[in-house]
Amino acid sequence: MNTYDSLLAAVTTDDPEAREVHDPATGELIGRAPVKGLEFLDAALDSATAAQPRWAGLEDEERTIYLHRAADAIEAAAEPLAQLLSREQGKPLNGPNARFEVGACSAWTRAAADTELPGGVILDDESGRAEMHYRPLGVVGAISPWNWPMMISIWQIAPSLRMGNTVVIKPAETTTLSVMALVAVLNQVLPEGVLTVVPGKGSVVGAALTQSDKISKVMFTGSTPVGKQIIAASADNVTRLTLELGGNDAGIVLPDVDPVAIAEGLFWGAFINTGQTCAALKRLYVHDSVHDQVVEALTEFAKTVPMGVGLDENNLLGPLQNQAQYEIVDRLVDSARTGGASVVLGGDPDPDAPGYFYPTTVVTDIDPHAALVVEEQFGPALPIVRYSDIDEAIRLANELEVGLGASVWSNDRDEAKRVAARLEAGTVWINSHGGLHPMVPFGGMKQSGYGREFGVEGLKAVSEPQVISG
Ligand code: NAD
Repeated sequence: MNTYDSLLAAVTTDDPEAREVHDPATGELIGRAPVKGLEFLDAALDSATAAQPRWAGLEDEERTIYLHRAADAIEAAAEPLAQLLSREQGKPLNGPNARFEVGACSAWTRAAADTELPGGVILDDESGRAEMHYRPLGVVGAISPWNWPMMISIWQIAPSLRMGNTVVIKPAETTTLSVMALVAVLNQVLPEGVLTVVPGKGSVVGAALTQSDKISKVMFTGSTPVGKQIIAASADNVTRLTLELGGNDAGIVLPDVDPVAIAEGLFWGAFINTGQTCAALKRLYVHDSVHDQVVEALTEFAKTVPMGVGLDENNLLGPLQNQAQYEIVDRLVDSARTGGASVVLGGDPDPDAPGYFYPTTVVTDIDPHAALVVEEQFGPALPIVRYSDIDEAIRLANELEVGLGASVWSNDRDEAKRVAARLEAGTVWINSHGGLHPMVPFGGMKQSGYGREFGVEGLKAVSEPQVISG
């Protein structure tokens, strides 16, 4: 599996029921992804259930060794994995894109292996003794989205395995081959039944996975509406949930910034993965006194970042991953324009060009309640709202139902921290946006979900706390 052709051959199929997979940059057919039904899901759940006690019965050190071998396997297949990811998802090989994502997969796997296990003695005095232990849950059902398909799948898989669970994962329909390839690479070293991928429709296989009494936990990353369905489905079996849902992250630029110095950070905060990132900067509030300079510096920087076919080594931005997402971005930018906003960069896709390319777009003079501001655009279109009163900027930032990430941009760290403390978001970055670290917990407030991934909090989230008292 260490060449592109062998990796593709391991996951693509001739099954007439299969779904054709086209490169979103060119439209080229790259393979066929299997679409499985409920019988296949049942068999996967049975094999995960059968494998779980043996996996949980290993010493923690043995699971750690397996995870490091899994990371080695990812590294050995890194280039073909990145090539397949680039072709199926559309993201370029270079920049914070396909090679970066595959690198993150091995890094997060090693971090999940090396994080010190939670638990220990929590009480030991004349009143008694109590120990906290974190036990395996059983079978974890993982459901991942199409924007960072390999990395987000690893976020769900690696900690679950470390804590003695087995995993059944359902990839997003439009990035099935990427996740199947990742799982095929991992399964070169993992024992049988520990990790199974079930390609299938979200509304059929995904829904059945979340309703199954064979799973103890759902790790879901995706949209808020589907997250709400999963909450409802969890009631019958009191299934544990970690929900990483939609976001619409705000950034607030304070008056003391150097516009040129922050332009690059603002750009990548907003446009990483061509804006298809849950915790990307999706609306920017800029103080009146620096508004025009920030807009100019950002648009000048944006013009220097090449967008194009993923396999071209020069490109740093790619197409939208699928037609539905392209249409959302197009509709939102059009409605902003119709509503009187100024499109100062982009906004003019070529409808005859191949692929789902939407140009890097910056929109100013926009109503703070325009759809492009208050809906999650999930694409390369950043609305910039002018403000003069920081309380008003904070009010606008907090008024949506979502609260995944946010950022504050300032040369005064203490002032930035005071503003950060007032923002309703699971992470508030200062002078950057969206950077993640495998040891730093990540997750949303409000309707961006609940639970935290990464680090020791992430291990706790895929285990059941048990107290031994006495
Ligand atoms: P989506 O909710 O449409 O799909 C996510 C996954 O859920 C897919 O695998 C899909 O097949 C499956 N699914 C669909 N219907 C289902 C159902 N009824 N039951 C169970 N599973 C079902 O989301 P998407 O379009 O793939 O991803 C984009 C969304 O994901 C955005 O809103 C984005 O903000 C969010 N996201 C959040 C994070 C985060 O960490 N918070 C990270 C990435 C993406």
